[in-house]
Amino acid sequence: MVMSAAEPRHARVAMLGGTFDPVHLGHLRSAVELCEALTLDRVLMVPAHVPPHREAPGVSAADRLAMLEAGIGDTPGLVADGRELQREGPSYSVDTLAELRAELGDSARLVMTVGHDAFLKLAEWHAPERLFEFAHIVVIERPGYTAALPRALETLLGGREVQSPEALFSRPAGGLLRLALPSRMAISATGVRQRLQDGRSIRYLVPEKVESIIQARNLYR
Ligand code: ATP
Repeated sequence: MVMSAAEPRHARVAMLGGTFDPVHLGHLRSAVELCEALTLDRVLMVPAHVPPHREAPGVSAADRLAMLEAGIGDTPGLVADGRELQREGPSYSVDTLAELRAELGDSARLVMTVGHDAFLKLAEWHAPERLFEFAHIVVIERPGYTAALPRALETLLGGREVQSPEALFSRPAGGLLRLALPSRMAISATGVRQRLQDGRSIRYLVPEKVESIIQARNLYR
């Protein structure tokens, strides 16, 4: 019997960028569930050096990366990727995606993941239409963010949305998928920082190792 050669599986990699100021269980649980839902090879969690759309974080990039590494620990599939910290100037996602595309090759399936709050502002990002040249965009639902999409964003998205991971991964880039992951967590870094400033507990909002670093380095006080 002649076996037909199976179609080779293309690499599937997601980037989850953010300030991670600090990383919390909402980020980490979302990354794990994203990895499962899309059967990804890995999720690269990429802290921004100089976030273009917000005030500079109160703790150093090195501390944010250290907390991210400690929070991920040995979690299968998750990677702390410090590449934006090595670049000068603002951290534009489009530059990071271009770099990843060059590393992974043309046929890899590359995904940029954003929470719904970040997605609502996508049309204001640097070169938003070029994001789709390099990657798909996957939007994760986040409790408390239900606003309608701005008109400029609707225009940018025109016809890109698909309804399943299979449809998304039929090509390397250019699609949009919205995902409601099983554990939607109403945790934000703003909330964590506020609690620390108020002297309240952050137990079970961040990994214990992240809490230990915050205490040892006296961050966010
Ligand atoms: P801040 O409160 O300081 O704005 P944040 O908690 O939103 O921070 P970011 O580092 O800005 O965290 O987020 C990085 C990415 O992770 C963004 O795309 C954001 O939408 C997403 N994200 C953050 N928290 C959650 C959560 N609880 N569930 C799902 N996605 C999240």
